[in-house]
Amino acid sequence: MTTLLTHIGKIITWHSDRQSMIIDTESDIMIEDGRIIKIGPDLGEADYIIDCHGKMVSPGFVDSHTHPVFMHGREEEFQMRLQGATYEEIALAGGGIVSSIKGVREATEDELIHKVRDRMDTFLSLGTTTIEAKSGYGLDVESELKSLSVLDKVNQHHEIDIHSTFMGAHAFPPEFAKNKDGYIEYICQNMLPKIAKQGIAEYCDVFCEKGYFSVEQSRKILVTAKQYGLKIRLHADEFVDSGAAELAGELNACSADHLMAISDNGIQSLKENHVVATLLPGTTFFLGKSTYAPYKKLKLAGVNIALATDFNPGSCYIQSMPFMLALACIYLKMDILDAFKASTIMGAKALGLEKTVGSIEEGKKADIVVWNVEDPVEIPYNVNQSLIRSVIKNGKKLK
Ligand SMILES: [Zn+2]
Repeated sequence: MTTLLTHIGKIITWHSDRQSMIIDTESDIMIEDGRIIKIGPDLGEADYIIDCHGKMVSPGFVDSHTHPVFMHGREEEFQMRLQGATYEEIALAGGGIVSSIKGVREATEDELIHKVRDRMDTFLSLGTTTIEAKSGYGLDVESELKSLSVLDKVNQHHEIDIHSTFMGAHAFPPEFAKNKDGYIEYICQNMLPKIAKQGIAEYCDVFCEKGYFSVEQSRKILVTAKQYGLKIRLHADEFVDSGAAELAGELNACSADHLMAISDNGIQSLKENHVVATLLPGTTFFLGKSTYAPYKKLKLAGVNIALATDFNPGSCYIQSMPFMLALACIYLKMDILDAFKASTIMGAKALGLEKTVGSIEEGKKADIVVWNVEDPVEIPYNVNQSLIRSVIKNGKKLK
């Protein structure tokens, strides 16, 4: 079956041959069996026609950093924070990550599947067609395996493409609070072998940060994960410069994420080792902080930059990539075409998927957003409006 997108005003996409973003104003898009087979003027007839009415189309978003496997939102903690409560006060009241851990450990797989499926419906409706999703609210063997199994089962029955990450090193669970090195051993000797055997996780992520997992502890976990065949990514230099970006370079990670406190050496390390810098402006925004990642410095250094949501119940309860475009433009001073590049092809690169998704090019998956706008800058400008006309996933129009 063929599908033709016609009367397109503008195609905004990465162009592999030119190695830049382009705005194509002349072309139709022909899709067959879920793939883009031809892009050009007057492509003729097809079994199914999608009239874009002169509006803009872009690739589906690739959200390369999310934490969607949890039971409940943490509104009470949000409220406490608004009233000035500290991290410690929130933890004492039973809030923080510990409450999400309790939720996942006590939940059945079916209960979690329900929650994650609903969240994926929302992601897709907001234009995200490929997503990275982490475990990391179980923090024991059984609950981490359960979290990954939930992602696998949702992925099998949902249009969105989910790529899973094992994040046992998200925090220290209460039973290891006084034996941190013991938890590192537990991850390396008990968790990772079983995660690898389960075969769902493609990546391993670590929260490498002062007060969480040190560079040495992170290195040990990530080196072991690599031995089990997992690709690696890091939460790096979010609050202080702890040398996490340098570690990402040393270990040839796919991506180093957050980076609000990255050093010049860290930037150099990402550049030299081709590690994607994934910026998550939603977290700074949602926490009411003002320190965003040094986007201009990273760009000047020639580092590849991706944008993602960091959707999670604590520090960023935001699923919208269009909203991330707005934050990137307003707070990081990112050019809108660069923001599209960061949230499509660079998101794909951060996951090692740049050959199959992230741009509107012949041979790629037909993952496309048809917008209700004519120019890309209308998206950050109309910051609170849903401007998506339809989402096309694997060539199928979803709404
Ligand atoms: Zn995160």
